[in-house]
Amino acid sequence: MARKKGAKAKLRDHFLANIGKVMNSDELRNVAGNITEWARRVRELRTEEGYQILTHNDRSDLTPGQYILEEAEPQPAFSRAISKETRAFVLDRNGFTCQMCGAVAGEPHPYDPSRKTRLHIGHIVDKSQGGTDDAFNLRALCSVCNEGASNLTLERPSVQKLLIQVRRAKGGDQVELLKWLVQKYPEQSKKFIERQR
Ligand SMILES: [Zn+2]
Repeated sequence: MARKKGAKAKLRDHFLANIGKVMNSDELRNVAGNITEWARRVRELRTEEGYQILTHNDRSDLTPGQYILEEAEPQPAFSRAISKETRAFVLDRNGFTCQMCGAVAGEPHPYDPSRKTRLHIGHIVDKSQGGTDDAFNLRALCSVCNEGASNLTLERPSVQKLLIQVRRAKGGDQVELLKWLVQKYPEQSKKFIERQR
């Protein structure tokens, strides 16, 4: 009796049968037999087997949740282009915080509290646009944003938008925010309080 094909093999076959075609997450989840780990399997095809499966992090014409395999030939160097040292440097520089949604590594994800936030490294300028694997072109992204599940825009909120949100928040939440800010900016906080006296 033939062994049942695993989710990764099904995904690999599907990508290879649809080279150059944009696929979305629903389609891939379906192909993988609706397992929750489908996105991880896709990532493994990319990082372990070197298939150049691109997402919105790699190509600006793709929207979050879209995937495309550009060519059949895997490129083992694709996943290893970014060194461990560079990864560590970028994560540290970004304060172990997702640069799209602000989720912090190891904490429950704000948009899906059942998941612990795991961070990945994404390109700022995608490689098809000439972006490099150098640290200045890399940023920390959580798995939710990396998989395109959060549907957030790339733009950072303006101070006006932030203030509108903060003014509408409950007093207790405002105090939580104050605690976070004082912890993040101890020197600035001290100076600010001294000036208020
Ligand atoms: Zn995120």
